Amino acid sequence: MEECLFCRIIAGNIPSNKVYEDELCYAFYDIAPMTPTHFLVVPKEHIASAAEITGENAYIVAHIYEVIAKLAAEMGFADGFRVVTNCGADAGQTVHHLHFHVLAGKQMGSFN
Ligand code: 5GP
Ligand code: ZN
Repeated sequence: MEECLFCRIIAGNIPSNKVYEDELCYAFYDIAPMTPTHFLVVPKEHIASAAEITGENAYIVAHIYEVIAKLAAEMGFADGFRVVTNCGADAGQTVHHLHFHVLAGKQMGSFN
């Protein structure tokens, strides 16, 4: 999956501003932040989208949510945060490697 942008970021072939890393996932700041704090958490294993989550890889997604909760506490998101995963064309997914946007630092509206 050398052509995948996020696989290349995980491998260190494209620079990124790291938030967190462990054996299963990598977190880094989004290049075009939508909120004062906006980072992405991605599985190190290439999973194309949320539509590719299975019984075999769901433990990675559970782990990522645990990591997000830990980072939210450490980073002091006392007023809340949002986790977003775009899946497929209608949702506007532009990078086809599963990623969780973590957004915080301002009051966010509802979305459609
Ligand atoms: P999507 O639109 O697929 O839900 O989210 C892709 C996200 O990746 C976007 O928010 C975009 O700003 C971010 N992004 C795209 N290319 C890069 C990059 O090279 N580095 C970083 N840090 N973020 C990127
Ligand atoms: Zn990938």
